[in-house]
Amino acid sequence: MSTKQSDAPTIESQAARRALARKLLAWFDRYARDLPWRQTSDLYAIWISEIMLQQTQVATVIPYWQRFLVRFPDAAALAAAEEHEVLRLWEGLGYYRRARQLHAAARQIAAVHAGRFPATYAEVKALPGIGRYTAGAILSIGADQRLPILEANTIRVLSRLSGFVGDPASTAGQKHLWAIAEKILPARRVGAFNQALMELGSEVCTPRQPACASCPVSAMCGARLCGAVDRIPQPPRKTKYEGLTEAAVVVRHRGRLLLRHCQPGERWAGLWDFPRFAVTDYGSGQVISPAVVSSRTRELTGFAIAPPTLLATIKHGVTRYRITLHCFESTLESRGRTKPTNGASRPLRWLSPGELTEYPLSTTGRQIARLVARE
Ligand code: SF4
Repeated sequence: MSTKQSDAPTIESQAARRALARKLLAWFDRYARDLPWRQTSDLYAIWISEIMLQQTQVATVIPYWQRFLVRFPDAAALAAAEEHEVLRLWEGLGYYRRARQLHAAARQIAAVHAGRFPATYAEVKALPGIGRYTAGAILSIGADQRLPILEANTIRVLSRLSGFVGDPASTAGQKHLWAIAEKILPARRVGAFNQALMELGSEVCTPRQPACASCPVSAMCGARLCGAVDRIPQPPRKTKYEGLTEAAVVVRHRGRLLLRHCQPGERWAGLWDFPRFAVTDYGSGQVISPAVVSSRTRELTGFAIAPPTLLATIKHGVTRYRITLHCFESTLESRGRTKPTNGASRPLRWLSPGELTEYPLSTTGRQIARLVARE
């Protein structure tokens, strides 16, 4: 498909862009959702909301953001915390790399900016986990700096407004959309304008069946004027999902359970988990041999366990993986421990079910912990 724009009249003239800003801001003033991070201009608090909102729905983020701000009211408090506690507060939001980068950025703010969130684009963008979108969003929303933004909602809105029929994820598409995002910024109320664009994408200009009849900027929408709303933006390439089969083992000993700390480079790095490993896919309905589970547990932890029994099977998705997780339970067979055979010794702890509530666990690790607690 061509990456050229359609020739429909859109937002090319300055007068049209002024009208766009006026109409969009008036609509936003009237219909904006009352979200807690919209009540503050504290750059730190806005930063936390922006990181949490990446890949996560607004309704899910609200209670996490509120709890996080109570515990860590500023960058200095976050920098002083143990990673363990940051991850525990993040538990359930997923994409834990965001939390680790947030923590690393807070430590950088404490070391380089005396604990105050920086206020220039270059300084903000130099922080771990902050790219062009996030820096622009924080500084336009919190300090009304004249910076553009481009994320999933605005990609859709700007593609349609400008009648862009190419692939928005391509280099040419990104260049075109960032240029539009910059060109349409008003002189004042930039933060409100950027939020209004995102709000329009979330509430009106939705991926399927956008509500063009009630859209405040329909008169200057290129896609609508050339009857191409259902073709713009070009749909993303379909994600290829990959199936994985894994096993996790609840090992008991004198009322305590064996947990291991996931290491850097592992999927749940920084979190705690029941011993877990990938196994060959035995096909649907086939049972993994207890002997395989015992030997893999010994390789991973160094502990010998009694023949395990199946506790539950959990199906879940992580990024492009569709995982079937077989959860086993067993008991420690002997107190003696050999060195794990799959590399360096890994930190292991024996925890009571009550102590598990204080440790950050993977989502499925928490599900297993609940199953165990119910027993
Ligand atoms: Fe989106 Fe329709 Fe508004 Fe165009 S007119 S911006 S397609 S909701």
